[in-house]
Amino acid sequence: MEPGGEYDLAVIGGGVNGCGIARDAQGRGLRVFLAEMADLASATSSASTKLIHGGLRYLEFHEFRLVREALAEREVLLASAPHIIWPMRFVLPYHDGLRPWPVIRFGLFVYDHLGGRRILPPTRSVDLANDAVGIGLKRKYRRAFEYSDCRVDDARLVVLNARDAADRGAEIRTRTRCIAARREGAAWRLTLKDLRDGRRFVISARGLVNAAGPWVSEVLTGVAGLDAPARDRLVKGSHIVVDRIFDHDRAYIFQNADGRICFAIPYEGGFTLIGTTDEEFGGDPATAAISEPEIDYLLGAVSEYLEKPIARSDIRWSYAGVRPLYDDGASKAQETTRDYVLTLDQPGDDAPLLSVFGGKITTYRRLAEHALEKLAGTFPRMRPPWTRTATLPGGDIPVAGFDDWAENAAGRYPFLEPKTVRRLCRAYGTRIDALLHGAGSVADLGQDLGGGLSEREVAYLKANEWAETAEDILWRRSKLGLHLDESQRAAVAACVGAAAPAQSARAG
Ligand SMILES: Cc1cc2nc3c(=O)[nH]c(=O)nc-3n(C[C@H](O)[C@H](O)[C@H](O)COP(=O)(O)OP(=O)(O)OC[C@H]3O[C@@H](n4cnc5c(N)ncnc54)[C@H](O)[C@@H]3O)c2cc1C
Repeated sequence: MEPGGEYDLAVIGGGVNGCGIARDAQGRGLRVFLAEMADLASATSSASTKLIHGGLRYLEFHEFRLVREALAEREVLLASAPHIIWPMRFVLPYHDGLRPWPVIRFGLFVYDHLGGRRILPPTRSVDLANDAVGIGLKRKYRRAFEYSDCRVDDARLVVLNARDAADRGAEIRTRTRCIAARREGAAWRLTLKDLRDGRRFVISARGLVNAAGPWVSEVLTGVAGLDAPARDRLVKGSHIVVDRIFDHDRAYIFQNADGRICFAIPYEGGFTLIGTTDEEFGGDPATAAISEPEIDYLLGAVSEYLEKPIARSDIRWSYAGVRPLYDDGASKAQETTRDYVLTLDQPGDDAPLLSVFGGKITTYRRLAEHALEKLAGTFPRMRPPWTRTATLPGGDIPVAGFDDWAENAAGRYPFLEPKTVRRLCRAYGTRIDALLHGAGSVADLGQDLGGGLSEREVAYLKANEWAETAEDILWRRSKLGLHLDESQRAAVAACVGAAAPAQSARAG
C-alpha cells in the first residue's frame, strides 16, 4: 500500500454536495481531498429533473425554510453560472381538480416574494386559447398560471464545482473508492482503492465529510465503522425523454389525479423531458433503473393533459436516480422532507465526521456553507464564506447578457456550425476560448465524431474534466448521446480510449 498525503478535509462523494463542499472548503484555505468511486455526478446528481427551483409543491408541505432558501439561491446560482443555468417559465394549466384559483394565485404570490427576486419575471395568468402554450393541450384547459424558476445542467454543475476546487488546489480523485476510514484521535485515516488498477493508498485528514448520497449510511457504518442508526430513506425517481411534444421554450407542471406533479420540460433541442416519480428503493443505488409501472405512470400523467397522447414508441431515453432523503417519519415517499440534515459525529476534541442527508441540487451551495459552519471548531482559521458572489469556471458572463455574449463568441469561431458553437457556449462559457485556443478551421479540431463533438473537445474533457469513458462524455459532460447514432458513439469510445493529444491540463 502506498502512503498518501495529509489533508485538512477529506470528502467522500463526488456528487453536487461533495464537490460543493470541497470547492467551498478549498477556497477558505483548507487543503481538501475528494474521492469519488465512479465518475463525478454519476449517481443522483446527474439524474435530477434539472431544476433550480424553490419547489412550489413543498409549500403545501409547509417546508418554508427549504423553499425560502431555495428561492433565494435561484438568482445566486444563475449569476454564478449563466452558461449552465438559465431562467425558465413554467405553465400550470388550471382545472377543477386543483385548489381554488385564488388559493393557487396566493401560493404563487408567496413563491414570487418569499426568497427575493430581481432577475426572474413574476407570475402571470395565461389564456390558453390565445397563447402558444395552449397548443397541444386538451381544449378543456382554458387558463393557466405561468411562473419562473431555472433550468440547470446538473452534471456539469458538479464538474464545474470540482474544477473550481481543483483550480484552487484541491485533490480530486475519481474512480477511487474509500474502503475504510478510521478515527485516530485528532485525525481520520482513510484507505482508498483506485478502481482502475486496484492500487490501495492511505491519506489522513483532520476532518471527514460523508457526502456519499444514497450510500451515506453505508459509509457511516460500513466504511467508518460507526454504530449509527439508519437515518436515510431512499426514494427512486425516474424520467423519460421523448421526441419534442411542444414548439415553444416553456415547461409545464402538471398536477396528477394522485396529487403528485409531473414536469414536461423542453430538452436538448428536439426533445421533452418528463418526470418524475417517487418509489421506495432498496438495493444498490448504482443499479437504479426505470420500471415498467413508472413508464406507464409518466406516459399517463402527461397524456392526461394532451390532445395527442404520447406513446412508448416516442421514448428515446430514460434515467433513474435515488434521492438520499432524511427519514422524517412521513408515511408517503413523496411527503418525506426534501430539506437537508447535517449530522456531526465528534466525540470530545476528536476528528469530526459530518454526514449529509437529503438536499437539493438547488441548495448545494448553502448546504456547503452550513457544513463548514459545523466544522468551524476544528478549523478556527478557516476564511469566511465566499461562494455567494463568486462565479463557477466559465461563468464570468453577464446574467442578462448570455445571448449577446454567445453571439460575440460565435463571431470569433465562424468556421463552426451555429448549433455547435451555441452548445459549446452553453457547456463551457468563457472557457470556450481555452477549448478552441489557436483553432482557425474545423480541421484544427481533429475528427468530427458526430453532433459537433471534435477530437479536441474529447481531449479537453479528458485533461480538464476527469472524463475517462464515452459514457462520461456522452451522458454527463454533454448529452450528445441523445443525438449520436450507434456507430458515432462507438467512434467516441475509440477516441476516448486513445492517448490524449497534447492539451493544456488547466483551462482558461
Ligand atoms: C428523480 C430526482 C429528481 C430530482 N430533481 C431535482 C431538481 O430538479 N432540483 C433539485 O434541486 N434537486 C433535485 N433532486 C435532488 C438532487 O438530485 C439530490 O439532492 C442531489 O443530487 C444529491 O447529491 P449528493 O451529492 O448528495 O449525492 P450523489 O450525487 O448521489 O453523490 C454521492 C456520490 O458519492 C459516491 N460514493 C458513495 N460511496 C462512496 C465511497 N465509499 N467512496 C467514494 N465515493 C463514494 C457515489 O458514487 C456518488 O457519486 C432530484 C433527485 C432525484 C432522485
